[in-house]
Amino acid sequence: MKVTRIAYSARLNPGKYAALVEQARRLGRVRSEMWQRYGSINGVGAGLRDRQVRDRWLADGTHVRFGVLANAWKETVRDAMADIAANLAAAKVEVQWAIGRRTNAGAERKRMFTTLRADQWASDPFLARQMRKHWKRGRNRTHDQIVVCADKYNTAVDGQSRLWLAVPGLEPRKMVKIPLSTAVAPTGTLRLILRGGRVEVHYQIDAAEMRSSQRPCGDATVGVDKGYTEALTDSDGQPHGVQLGVVLSSESDRLKERNRRRAKLRSIANTAALRGNHAKAHRIKVNNLGTVKRDRQAARYRARVRTEIFTAVHEVVEKAATVVAEDLTKRFAGRKTLGKNINRRLAGWTKGVTAEALRNVSERRGSALVHVNAAYTSQTCHRCGAFGRRSGDRFHCTPCGVVWQADVNAAINILHRAGDPDIALHTPHHKVKQILQDRTDRHRTRLPVQDSSPAIAERRANYPNRSAMSN
Ligand SMILES: [Zn+2]
Repeated sequence: MKVTRIAYSARLNPGKYAALVEQARRLGRVRSEMWQRYGSINGVGAGLRDRQVRDRWLADGTHVRFGVLANAWKETVRDAMADIAANLAAAKVEVQWAIGRRTNAGAERKRMFTTLRADQWASDPFLARQMRKHWKRGRNRTHDQIVVCADKYNTAVDGQSRLWLAVPGLEPRKMVKIPLSTAVAPTGTLRLILRGGRVEVHYQIDAAEMRSSQRPCGDATVGVDKGYTEALTDSDGQPHGVQLGVVLSSESDRLKERNRRRAKLRSIANTAALRGNHAKAHRIKVNNLGTVKRDRQAARYRARVRTEIFTAVHEVVEKAATVVAEDLTKRFAGRKTLGKNINRRLAGWTKGVTAEALRNVSERRGSALVHVNAAYTSQTCHRCGAFGRRSGDRFHCTPCGVVWQADVNAAINILHRAGDPDIALHTPHHKVKQILQDRTDRHRTRLPVQDSSPAIAERRANYPNRSAMSN
């Protein structure tokens, strides 16, 4: 498995930066050409390969127009091809959902999936229609990137132990030397992204080489619930990533305030422009509505959240051989767009990071990740199974007369779902509710309860009724 690393340039000479920007701009035209010519059914959709494109361009002289070195445009062709393929793959996922909605018949479904996978959808009217609907013809929006393959750059350390990266420029044999702010030399294929006067060097390393991948996992089976104030709570009652809530809410407050101010400035600038004062409008746009600082702050915030979440998952894997969790990548049908609500947008993004961290860390440290159906796990009591009431971080169960800590209750429920004979990963929501309801009814009429294994009883004893309610 690969993970992406980023190195940054340090105090890069503006002249060199401008030269790199120019190169990236020209390579952007290569990308645009790729999308225009091959970004549809007749191109990548028909199984075209990047080598064929290279041969065609060399034959008809297309490559001369771009004014860049051979290796630069060839690498860019390969990269753009991969983008187009990703665009196609995303459309196929949509079509797979459409197939699922259209038919329940196993054989027919299988036939359609196979046809889709083999890129032969054009022969099937339904698939062709769906592909036209979902495969929106894309266009290139990347004009700030340079891809450099491993044998075209080199790194060196100078007398002041500064690391320099030398990459090809626009002239043959004239390298552009970029000072980096790290001592770790990037390896493999590099993607240079030019943003705000700074070069970001993106490269991938093998996850096995990371120090954290050498640490073994634990031997317990642990359920986890994704929380609001902490990244994860496990079924032993331990919270992980406790700073997450603070980071999220302070970021949300900051964004609200800043967006308010920017909106105000923007309206001042617009008014000025309407009145003919274009100099003032321009001044505001350049000095007060820039994006360099904003983007850097956003990147820093994202890095903080990622660290918090990855650390939390490492803590869980430290004791777990099996981690039981909700599938956080699952889409919810009918969910409306999140719109302007900043809190929900941030929460949506952290959910994705948590899913990534669980998958990534489990794989690297050798623990198993089991996804379960998490429907109603936060609304039922882990001891008696009854539906209860959640208020804030407390969960009230009336039959038990107990207040549980809500996230811990949910985490234990999630853990139990891993061995649940009736509730599978894809059991629909309403069916889960029915099953849970039936169990509670059986409980009330004093039929034997299924789950009373010693392990669970012990867990209950260890874990905490904060306060007993009077019944
Ligand atoms: Zn209960």
